[in-house]
Amino acid sequence: MEQILSRKHNYAFHCINHFRFLISMLSSSQYENPNYTECIVIGAGISGLIAANVLQHAGISVSILDKGKAVGGRLATRRVRSPSIGESIFDYGVQLFAASRPEFQSMIDEWQQLGQVTEWGTQIYNSGKICYRGVESNRSLASFLAKELVVHHQSQVIRMQRTSSCWYVHTKDGREFKCRSLIITCPIPQALDLFKQSNITLPSDLLVRLENVLYFSCIACLALLEKESNLPEPGGVRLDGKSTERNLSKQCHDNTVYPRIQYVVLG
Ligand SMILES: Cc1cc2nc3c(=O)[nH]c(=O)nc-3n(C[C@H](O)[C@H](O)[C@H](O)COP(=O)(O)OP(=O)(O)OC[C@H]3O[C@@H](n4cnc5c(N)ncnc54)[C@H](O)[C@@H]3O)c2cc1C
Repeated sequence: MEQILSRKHNYAFHCINHFRFLISMLSSSQYENPNYTECIVIGAGISGLIAANVLQHAGISVSILDKGKAVGGRLATRRVRSPSIGESIFDYGVQLFAASRPEFQSMIDEWQQLGQVTEWGTQIYNSGKICYRGVESNRSLASFLAKELVVHHQSQVIRMQRTSSCWYVHTKDGREFKCRSLIITCPIPQALDLFKQSNITLPSDLLVRLENVLYFSCIACLALLEKESNLPEPGGVRLDGKSTERNLSKQCHDNTVYPRIQYVVLG
């Protein structure tokens, strides 16, 4: 009798272990699937990188999908080489930034302590706010923010599909990602296209607000100079023309090594 009980006990134990194994297989297939995270962020610009960092620090698994080859989006930097003058680094997207909210200011303070950003005067925008820029370049700040994140480059999202429990996100090269929550940080016209391609209808008041956001085109001219530009300190000038036009000239970061100038016309 004791033997039978013991055999039954062993059998039950074996079944429980087998059941546990199956459960762990099922749950790990969800959580160890490289294409599943609790949250997916579309876009690795400053917005997406900050959102992903905040979520990851809160213990939420997150991955980023970006169509570009590098992180940063409009935190864009280009290295320009000239045989006669040498090489220089230009920020041809964001020039400088300032905080309007204490939350963003405390992030900037942390980046500054970690040697990633530096102050760039208060004069350029004449707003009294302290302006900042990346120490090496503005894109290098994006690379720093992406250091501990999972970023899938060259992953253009073409369609999103929602079920009762999750989102399926499809990329141009045929991959499928899955998540519980989705954050979209691409520029609004591109986000609206994505909603259209995904047959997702936004509430009409939200749609009107988004469609009314205006984007102005701009020209960025990157000029590597043979000598100092004589721009006054801190190397940035804002010239206001007509009310709709703004000009910003910028003598970039390492002008002591290779003089250069960047001229951005917005309008
Ligand atoms: C020339 C220029 C100068 C500027 N100067 C300043 C300045 O001095 N100070 C300032 O504060 N702001 C400036 N701005 C504005 C600033 O660049 C933006 O407000 C800011 O960078 C936006 O960041 P973001 O992360 O929201 O979007 P983005 O930087 O645009 O990031 C969006 C990301 O989404 C990705 N993406 C888009 N569609 C898809 C898709 N379907 N699938 C996957 N990925 C996708 C893109 O590749 C991109 O990386 C400037 C902008 C320009 C163009």
